[in-house]
Formats: sequence, structure tokens, C-alpha cells
Amino acid sequence: MKKVLSVLLVLVMLALASAALADTSYTATVDSQIGGVDAVTATVTLADDGSIVSVTVDECKDTPGICDAAVKTIPEQMVALNSINVDTVAGATMTSEAILNAVKTALEDGGVDITALSEKKEIVVEKAADEQLSADVVVIGAGGAGLAAAISAEQNGAKSVIVVEKMPKVGGNTILAGGALNAVDDRSETAVKQNDSVYWHYYQTLNGGDWQGDPELVMTLVSNAWDGVQWLKDMGMEFNEDAIFTVTGGLWERAHKPVMPAGTGFFDTYTKYIDAHSDVITLMLNTTAEEITTDESGRVNGIVCTGETGNTVTIVANSGVVVATGGFAKNVEMRQVFDTIWGNLDETVKSTNHEGATGDGVKMMQKLGADFVQMGNIQLLPLGDPQTGSLSGNIEHNVETRVFINKEGERYCDEGGRRDDMTNALFAQTDNFMWIVMDSDTYPTGDELNNFGETANQLVEAGRAVKADTLEELAEKMDVPADKLIAVITEYNRHCEGGDLEGQPDEFGRTLFATPIDDGPFYAAGRVPTVHHTMGGVHITTSAQVVSETGEIIPGLYAAGEVTGGIHGANRLGGNALTDTVVFGRIAGASAAAAK
Ligand code: ADP
Repeated sequence: MKKVLSVLLVLVMLALASAALADTSYTATVDSQIGGVDAVTATVTLADDGSIVSVTVDECKDTPGICDAAVKTIPEQMVALNSINVDTVAGATMTSEAILNAVKTALEDGGVDITALSEKKEIVVEKAADEQLSADVVVIGAGGAGLAAAISAEQNGAKSVIVVEKMPKVGGNTILAGGALNAVDDRSETAVKQNDSVYWHYYQTLNGGDWQGDPELVMTLVSNAWDGVQWLKDMGMEFNEDAIFTVTGGLWERAHKPVMPAGTGFFDTYTKYIDAHSDVITLMLNTTAEEITTDESGRVNGIVCTGETGNTVTIVANSGVVVATGGFAKNVEMRQVFDTIWGNLDETVKSTNHEGATGDGVKMMQKLGADFVQMGNIQLLPLGDPQTGSLSGNIEHNVETRVFINKEGERYCDEGGRRDDMTNALFAQTDNFMWIVMDSDTYPTGDELNNFGETANQLVEAGRAVKADTLEELAEKMDVPADKLIAVITEYNRHCEGGDLEGQPDEFGRTLFATPIDDGPFYAAGRVPTVHHTMGGVHITTSAQVVSETGEIIPGLYAAGEVTGGIHGANRLGGNALTDTVVFGRIAGASAAAAK
């Protein structure tokens, strides 16, 4: 009997072993538009009948926090649908495409016939029952302003907060931003050293926006900015303490740089806080607010959403609703309707924005009779990726260390100027194209990160930047006349070194000259104009209450961030948008918690 059992056991083990052996794994490494060469490695395992057993993303060099949703969702969908032809994940399209490519390449390289596995399949989701929820404060949008508002509501006494986010991930445009925020501590040595003050920040914000900004809102922004930085630090967010710098179009050295790349540091901080306070704050992803509701007195009392499965989710707001839906730079129709600055912002002009920036908050609040200000003020940047319009791939660290060079090999504007001036100047260049040029001061070896978590060498390998030991070689790679480039850089360096400049100001009016571009390796990366920030929006008070067309406060309705207008005027200072999300997000959350 014992012998029979042993034989059986051996047979079972052999059967199991052969079943395991029948599974075959295939691995490939591919480039990604974000992470560059060899950025994504994926392994797909097939059973002997050819069905997908598992898919893993073994490595992904794309920006963490931005690519996470694709790394999680694409493998899950491939296994669930037994297909390698699944939908990309909204908000993480480029990473999705790289993963899809890695899996396909792995199978093809392994000689697998992928015809059957390539059949397009979509997940059929069964519609869940409609839901009725309630919370003291309801926030629409889990970008920078929305999550700041949710946390602030909790900190100011709300017993329950629900945040709805239509995308499968938090972050909005904020997570894609360069990450730096302007703030001045009047009492600090740094402010004295930089000749800066809260008042100078106030003046520059108003002046830089052609005095269209509301002075009270601007004063609220600048005078609460430093406290906002402290608030972030208190929650554990880390900043590069010694690196106060000028963001492009920021006009002054007052930007604080988070340690984590792009805007990921904000969301790392916010989501940790929310996880630790999950008894109060609930985050609902894939949930789209469609309508803001009011009671018979006209007070806002909740929202109606489409839930993850297409079901209706109705949420009652006991104290208030905060609209933090961001801007509309991805809504070409709205861009064309509202723009009063550029003349044509059709689809040929790309955008830095994430797909969810479609102006939903504007549409919902229009129905409530809210007042909108300066909707025509749309900000473009001269810093878009030539293929996608994105900010990623931008090699500059700050204004101080780089120049802009056109296809003729010439400088053409004040690279320390206003964003609108620099973008207008770029539109006047051949093919609306320029190179950002810098040297080893920024990237001593090329393995250092840019503001988006990419190394210069990765960008070079991915063909998104060029690198050379000499300016002659750089000019060749940029396809510009070497003599021209060398002459232009020599003149620029003369200004940096404070050479013989008596009576010879920079021909484009640049005054910010710091480090000469004279030490290889040299770097250059191409950039084009791109739609970045919709500066107009809903009219708010300094308490973030929404104002109606007739000038009254709409009770129970608050707004913060890019969906609001009247702060940045005709031109936003670089580094002020993240400050806006922190300052007005906090105010909106506190006002909503207090049902102000
Ligand atoms: P801000 O900088 O003002 O915070 P962001 O772009 O960072 O703006 O964030 C706005 C967020 O709002 C995005 O994550 C976006 O997907 C989300 N959002 C936009 N419209 C809706 C909607 N109708 N329902 C839920 N979330 C929305």
C-alpha cells in the first residue's frame, strides 16, 4: 500500500512538473517615449495551449507615479482577456504603449504566432447598482488643488470627505508639472539675498499678468505661499533646500524644488496623508462628476456622477462641494471658442496637459449661473516635446543655465522673459522650433536627472536630445551652422562673465546670466509651442467661494486651482500654478468644511 502511494505521489509530482514545464515565458526590453532606450522590460508566460498565464512588467523607467496605472492595469487586462491587444490606460498612454510593445516583441522574438492573441478585446464590465453616498465635503478632481482641498477639509473639521476623480489615477496636470512652486519667506536670509519679498512676488505676479489679476486674490496667493510650503513639509514632503531657482517665465529666483521628479512629490505626500486618514477621506477613481445639484433655496447640496461601471453615483454634500477639475487645454473646441490671445489653437497646437483637462468644471458651473473671468487668457509655453507637446523630455533645469537657439543657429529672445513673449518669439522662428542648449554645469556626466525624472543620457539614447564634446560637434548634431552657434554662445558667455559690456546690453534684453556654456559635454533638445494652462476660469472670492453672474456667492460651492480665473491675469508666472493649487486648495477645503 505504501509503495502504491509513493508511486502515485511520484506520478502526481511528474504531472505537476510537466504542467509547469508546459508554461513558457518570453521576455523583451523596449524603448519608451518617456523612459528612453530600454526603458520597459516585460515578461509574458503562455500555457501550452497558447493562452496567457501571466504578464509582468519587470522594469519600467518611466516616471514613477505617472506610469503606475499602466504597469498595474495592462498586465491584468491581458490575462483577464487573454489578449495582447488591450486598451491603453487613460493618463498613462505612452507607458501603456511601451508595455504593449514589450509583450508583443517578446512573443514575436520567441517565434510565437500572435494572430489569435492579437484579437482586440475589451473588458465588458457589468453595471453595478446605483449608489447614494454622502459626506460633509465633496471634492471634484484629484489633482493638486483637489487633494489639497480634501486634506484641508479634514484638517478643518470635516468628519467625512469624498473625492471623485474621473481618471484611473490621481494627479491631473499637477503630476506632470515641473514640480517647482514659488514662495517667499520674507524673514529668511534667502529672501534678503535674492532681493525678494512677498510684496515683490505680488507685484511681479500682477505686472506679469498685465494687471488683469484680481489684487486681492493675488495677495492671498503670495502671502499664503510660504505657509503652504511649510504645510507640505509638515506632511513629509521633501524639497531641495539649497536650490531656490527661476522657473521658465518665473521672472525671479523664488521657486522651491521638490526632491521627487515632476509633480510626483505632491501626490506621494497627499496620498500618504489620505491613506492615514482613510476613516475620513475616501477617494473614488474612475468616477466622473456630471452635475452639481442644488436644493430649493439654491444652495449646492451634492453631485451626480457616472461611476466606474457606468452606474449613477449620487453624493450628498452636507457642507459643500469643491470644484477642482483643472483646466480645458485638452478641449480643442473650448480652446477655440474662448481664446483671445493666439488666434488659432486648433489640434495642430499640441498641449502639455493630461487627457482629463477638458473643462468639465466650467460646464457644470455654467449651468449654475457661475461667473467666469478672463476665459480668453490661455497660456502657451515654448517648451513642448515636438512629437507630443508634453513637458517631459525638457532638458533645462532652470533659466539661469541655458539658451534658446533656432534652426539658423541663432538666439532670438530673452530666455528669462515672460512665457507669452517667449512663445510668441518661438512662433516667429522657422518651423516654430528651437533647441535648448546647455553644458556640463547642468549635466556633468549626463546621468543626472532633469525635472521630470529622466537622465540626459536617456533622452539622448531615445533621440530626444543630442550630446557632444564640442560646440562644433553639437552644431552638426543640431544641423545648424557651427560658426553661427559658436559666435552666439561666445557672446552669451561674455555676458555671463560680465565682460566688456559697458553700454552693450544683451540684444534681446536678457539680464539673467549665470553660468557660461563653455564646458563639454554640451546638450541640446528640440522644443515647440504647446498649450499649457487655461488661466481664465470661475470667479472666486479670497475664501474660494464661487461667485454668480449677478455677483452673489453661490452658497455651498467652492473652487480652486486651474478651474478658477482672475489670479494669473494675461500671463502666469512660471512656478505660480502649483502655489495656486496649494494655497487655494487649502482655503477651499477649509471654507467647505465650515460651510462658509
Ligand atoms: P489643478 O492643478 O487645478 O489641481 P489638475 O489638472 O491637477 O488641476 O487636476 C484636476 C483633476 O480633476 C484631474 O485629475 C482631472 O482628471 C479631474 N477631473 C476633471 N473633470 C472631472 C470630472 N468631471 N469628474 C471628476 N474628476 C474630474
